[in-house]
Amino acid sequence: MNSPLFAVYGASGYGREVMPLAREQLRRQGVAPERLMFVDDAAVGSTVNGQRVLSYADFVAEPASARHVVLAIANSPVREHLAARCAADGVRAWTVVAGNVVVMDAVEIGDGAVLSPFVTITSNIRIGRHFHANLYSYVAHDCVIGDFVTFAPGVKCNGNIIIEDHAYIGTGAVIKQGKPGQPLVIGRGAVVGMGAVVTKSVPAGATVVGNPARVMEKAV
Ligand code: UDP
Repeated sequence: MNSPLFAVYGASGYGREVMPLAREQLRRQGVAPERLMFVDDAAVGSTVNGQRVLSYADFVAEPASARHVVLAIANSPVREHLAARCAADGVRAWTVVAGNVVVMDAVEIGDGAVLSPFVTITSNIRIGRHFHANLYSYVAHDCVIGDFVTFAPGVKCNGNIIIEDHAYIGTGAVIKQGKPGQPLVIGRGAVVGMGAVVTKSVPAGATVVGNPARVMEKAV
């Protein structure tokens, strides 16, 4: 059939949360529900919550005028790997946004994002590719967020914060606002533990936990 196909890549925990948002978004756009499916490299041939699961190879082989995929896998290096594979095959990065998300003024969001229910992105914000903002997270004014960044539920990202590529922010973490020209920076690949209260910049690759958040030394 010469019409576009849509898929949620990943049929596990997060994928099952993203699928209903994707279905609703397509319903609003008048796309037939059978044009939407899961792609998963493990659960192939089955159905999950009533939705077909295809292998990536089968998805690419299905007749379609275009293919759109949202990567619903929390692990960001896996997302990056799959994004490169999709791009090489002409599969487009698809953004899925829950119906009640609030996005204010002068916001740029890269392709392939997932904005879950109750997310708010306020004003003058730049966000890179394949961002995940899970339930009830917010991003406040003048933040700059890199590629493949992941927010677990309930992240409070206040104003003037820079979050570099592949950072992971755990459930309920609070990040203190920076100042204009003096942002608080969460470095590339850093992990902020659940419930952490981050009051100063976090080095690339570090894991911070607690209140106030401190770097967790790696076990030897
Ligand atoms: N997966 C995949 N291809 C990959 C890596 C992962 O299809 O290259 C699928 C994997 O089979 C699993 C899902 O993605 O079904 C990831 O699920 P997981 O529970 O690890 O993560 P979450 O859903 O919590 O992000």
